[in-house]
Amino acid sequence: MERRVRAATAVATILLTGCTAPPSGPPATRTGFTVRYETPAAADRTEAARLRAGRGAEDAADRLNAFLDLPREVVVVATSCAGEGSGYDPATRRIELCYDDAVEDRALFERAGDRPADEAVSAVWTETLFHEAGHALVDLLDLPAEGRAEEDAADRFAALMLLRQGPPGERALRLAAREYALAAASDTGPHADDQDEHAPDATREATHLCHLYGAAPTRHPDLAPRFPHCTTTWTTTRDAWLRDLAPLLRR
Ligand SMILES: [Zn+2]
Repeated sequence: MERRVRAATAVATILLTGCTAPPSGPPATRTGFTVRYETPAAADRTEAARLRAGRGAEDAADRLNAFLDLPREVVVVATSCAGEGSGYDPATRRIELCYDDAVEDRALFERAGDRPADEAVSAVWTETLFHEAGHALVDLLDLPAEGRAEEDAADRFAALMLLRQGPPGERALRLAAREYALAAASDTGPHADDQDEHAPDATREATHLCHLYGAAPTRHPDLAPRFPHCTTTWTTTRDAWLRDLAPLLRR
């Protein structure tokens, strides 16, 4: 995890994938990744509406559930985090995805001249969800990673989930890498935090691009000079995660 986990705030609006339990009946037994949306803070309202309409979180959860057969439910909650940052809480198996992070990401892309930034913001939203899902899987599989090692593993899982999609996922990974590059160039970027357990933003950018080039070198020839050795790196990275995921992989 990369931040403190806050007490749950009131849930004003709930949208679950699938059916909902009757109010007086027993709680439904759910497994897999599910998504719900909390009412945003006023400042996040526009971005939250865009994210919800785009259904990127549901699409990511669907991809995770098609790939992995989880024995438990992991709830992805889109919410306003007041700057605390997205995170996974193993005590509640809850991922919080922050509307306000997306607001900051949009500003970062727009300051760099990337307008409209809709696709980039959506790509980072999805990549963040996959990163936090990586933390959830480290927890559920009891993998021996913590601190920086766990953060790096979560980034590799995010790359794996995006690269499995082929060109659309490659494009999203590239946009997520660009966000890290822009954040690295900005003292006030969303990841400028001395206490952060993640790799530095410039390193995260390079690692994503290395994996991108390694997975699909012919589609990203511009990256060849910077990442000539990454084709073998990606194979090793992908296979390591697939070995760890073996108990959960759908056949
Ligand atoms: Zn993390």
